[in-house]
Amino acid sequence: MSADYRSPTYYELAAPPELDWRPYRPESYLDYRAEWARRGETGRAGDFPLHIDIDPTNRCNLRCAMCPRTYYLEQNNEKWAPHGLGDMDFSLFIRLIEEGQNKGLRSVKLNFLGEPLLYPKITDLVRLANDAGLWVMLNTNAVLLTERMSRDLLQAGLTDIFFSFDSPYKNEYEKIRTGADYDKVLANIARFMEIKEKGGYKAVQTRASLVLPADPARHETIKEDFIRLFRNLKVAEIGFGLPTVMGRDYEPENPDRFLCPDLFRRLFVYWDGVVGPCCGDWERNIDLGRVEGEIKVAEMWQSQKYRALREFHKNGQYKRIPACAHCSVPFLSTVEVLPAVT
Ligand code: SF4
Repeated sequence: MSADYRSPTYYELAAPPELDWRPYRPESYLDYRAEWARRGETGRAGDFPLHIDIDPTNRCNLRCAMCPRTYYLEQNNEKWAPHGLGDMDFSLFIRLIEEGQNKGLRSVKLNFLGEPLLYPKITDLVRLANDAGLWVMLNTNAVLLTERMSRDLLQAGLTDIFFSFDSPYKNEYEKIRTGADYDKVLANIARFMEIKEKGGYKAVQTRASLVLPADPARHETIKEDFIRLFRNLKVAEIGFGLPTVMGRDYEPENPDRFLCPDLFRRLFVYWDGVVGPCCGDWERNIDLGRVEGEIKVAEMWQSQKYRALREFHKNGQYKRIPACAHCSVPFLSTVEVLPAVT
């Protein structure tokens, strides 16, 4: 078994042929993925992001041990949520989709630090994005993935769902995912998979992922058990995130040169309309502004500030940006963790 996809912080095992969803997707999907890879490799940003991560809410129903959100709450650090906890205005979401639809946006992911199924109109968001011709993804802890929710999401046009599960073992799972019941969540995922199969949603991508524990000696066993658990449920992709130590300064171990691929292909819009460049800047140190009034995403994408950020990365000077210098992503890009599972 080999990994077929890797980003600086994450890698993923390819789905076996009988679970593969790719053959059911149109040619345009492959074009989109090729462009995604090209932008990251070449450092060409185009006129508009290919993808926007939209956080409909920064509320969450769990307090998971490895989550930056939990870390900041425990530290009483409010930088990650300068406007508190809340839900995005539906009108802002419509605005983002309408702008993107005409400018080359290809996909949206409906979460960042919140649990998207807590957003009261989550299926409406999915439908709206799907109607605009976008690939619509979300990560969920699956606690609220009831039978009704599963049917509604699939009918609304969700194209990719990623289950964050974090341990194949009940005791450990419930210790990490504080507030979640292992058996119930697993049953929710199993039922979603059944509804998906019976409904003929063959093009929908499913993935289960975990953040690996800090101790590398445990990795092989945990990966094997996790793969077995989710392949039994017919989940197609299995993803492994690399552990990040919150609060640690990675600057001393970071490489001298690093080109952060996400700066050229995606953008993050938090629930309050504030825009950030990436999933590594939890504390929002890189402030790209706020989508409001006449200010639109395209302007931010092409702004002087964002261009300067990209130039530092392209010129081997990324450490001149304090958030990037101390970020875990450049360090993790140097860590060799591809699976030895065969
Ligand atoms: S903080 Fe900088 S290096 Fe880290 S993910 Fe964001 S853009 Fe990339």
